[in-house]
Amino acid sequence: MQYQNELFQSITPSHIKKSKHSKHLLLSATCAIIATASYAFFTQKTALPTADTVTLTLPDITTKIEPKKKDNLLIDNSLDKVAIEHTTPIPGENKRTTHSMQSLSTIWQEHKIKSGESLSAIFSKNKLNKSDLHKIIHANDIGPQFATIQPGKSLLIGHNISGELSHLVYKKNTYDKLKATRLENGTFTVEHLVKKATPRISSTSGTIHTSLFIDGKNVGLSDKTIMQLAGIFAWDIDLAHNLREGDQFTVFYEKLYIDGNLTGTGNILAAEFINQGQSIKAIRYQDPSGKISYYTPEGDSMRKAFLRTPIDFARISSHFNLRRKHPVLNRIRAHKGVDYAASRGTPIKTTGDGKIIFRGRKGGYGNVVIIQHGQSYSTLYAHMSKFKKGQHIGSRVHQGQVVGYVGKTGLASGPHLHYEFRINGKHRNPLTVKLPNANPIQKKYKADFMEKSKTLISELEQLSATHVATRTQ
Ligand SMILES: [Zn+2]
Repeated sequence: MQYQNELFQSITPSHIKKSKHSKHLLLSATCAIIATASYAFFTQKTALPTADTVTLTLPDITTKIEPKKKDNLLIDNSLDKVAIEHTTPIPGENKRTTHSMQSLSTIWQEHKIKSGESLSAIFSKNKLNKSDLHKIIHANDIGPQFATIQPGKSLLIGHNISGELSHLVYKKNTYDKLKATRLENGTFTVEHLVKKATPRISSTSGTIHTSLFIDGKNVGLSDKTIMQLAGIFAWDIDLAHNLREGDQFTVFYEKLYIDGNLTGTGNILAAEFINQGQSIKAIRYQDPSGKISYYTPEGDSMRKAFLRTPIDFARISSHFNLRRKHPVLNRIRAHKGVDYAASRGTPIKTTGDGKIIFRGRKGGYGNVVIIQHGQSYSTLYAHMSKFKKGQHIGSRVHQGQVVGYVGKTGLASGPHLHYEFRINGKHRNPLTVKLPNANPIQKKYKADFMEKSKTLISELEQLSATHVATRTQ
């Protein structure tokens, strides 16, 4: 949703300009301050004003609009809005504070949320009606998000002429706001206003001297882009052990902008990694059915059909070994899988797309899930403390999807995952078995992929070649 809200548009630089045309020097100066302060509420181009200038506490809101104070009335026809301001000294302070209005009907004040401060406490502090708070929280599905306010951020409080709370705006950041608006019947409606970012393509090349992370940072890549890059090539390159000084990477990726400001990075569109002289290229492609993946320029998948390991944050506690002494049974018994020691409750992921063919208790395996992947492959996950909710025998699961949690059910001396990999019913070592590639682009989409990836591939090759040429000069 784009902002279509007067709140985010009513105070604009043109207003600031206009206000300077005022005949009264003092008024014009004050207005400029107001406009600047208010403008700062809505953009981050202007540094946020100090707390002194924006902490507005009004002893009596109903006295704010004084028809007599005509000097303080500023009519800006171009905006077809009326801005009123006046100044009130805060008791015990010499500083003048300012109050501004966006229209005849709304008076705004800003409340900086302090650590440990609840919405309820903020309502008390600002003498707001608690029943309005209740109405806002229960206004609709979005209302409860007001309960997640965080210290350091701002709440904008708007009052109408009768002194009632008319608006409540929580600024998560410049581009993401919650806004409650009082309706004529006294209830509230709550909206989530998110500005959409516009992607622009950016590209960069780098050379490995230290690590992908450090050398990536050195050429201006964000942590997120580096992690994405690592994820794309992790199937082909052991980025922790097999990088060499002089390896190169080139990446085309999205930079995201809102109102011309860089707000983050988006997807990697294409990338090349030259590892020990071998070039590997990856292109992002979304097929007409909506499936997004990375492919080689020939349309083969960058992914394998299986992840090497079904669990993060675990260490291998027992290898595949056909002559192992069993730790519980204390006699030679083949260990036809790999054990990963991990704390109880650690999520276990299916290593490939497939269908659950067994899910239940099975002797020494304890709680076990067996997944069939196509015709010839199956994987097994044992000793689970519990299964993933909502799945059953026959459920389709996708690579990386959680199927259960580490435990020590069955014959196990401590919490661990026992993982087996079988091809045509025969046990294979999951750590060394040659993993098949994931499916290539479907035949019917191949022409579409070739057409759409053409330009990116040639740009990737050009940039990569330039980078190599520059380095060897
Ligand atoms: Zn085991």
